[in-house]
Amino acid sequence: MSNKMELIDRNELLEYQYHSSEWNDETQKFDLPVVDVTVIKNAPTVEAEPVKHGKWIKFPGVIECSICGGWIGKEHTFGYKYCPHCGAKMDLEELE
Ligand SMILES: [Zn+2]
Repeated sequence: MSNKMELIDRNELLEYQYHSSEWNDETQKFDLPVVDVTVIKNAPTVEAEPVKHGKWIKFPGVIECSICGGWIGKEHTFGYKYCPHCGAKMDLEELE
């Protein structure tokens, strides 16, 4: 399976459910349809990738991304919340 995720909009599905609900005279309530596989398959999606969490590893003169091994100059350490090479979020550990 690929690493790409397809995210479904929750509001979109809820909207569908509201619009397909029918008034039930006996129970005096709206019957909500069960969202079935077809609806889920046809729901609009956005392609996304899971957020990678990494940390900077210190080396003399450079720091290395723990995810992709990409280097950046040590002077930039505090300027990057994300690795400029692979996009990982650098929040696992603070550099001293
Ligand atoms: Zn990286």
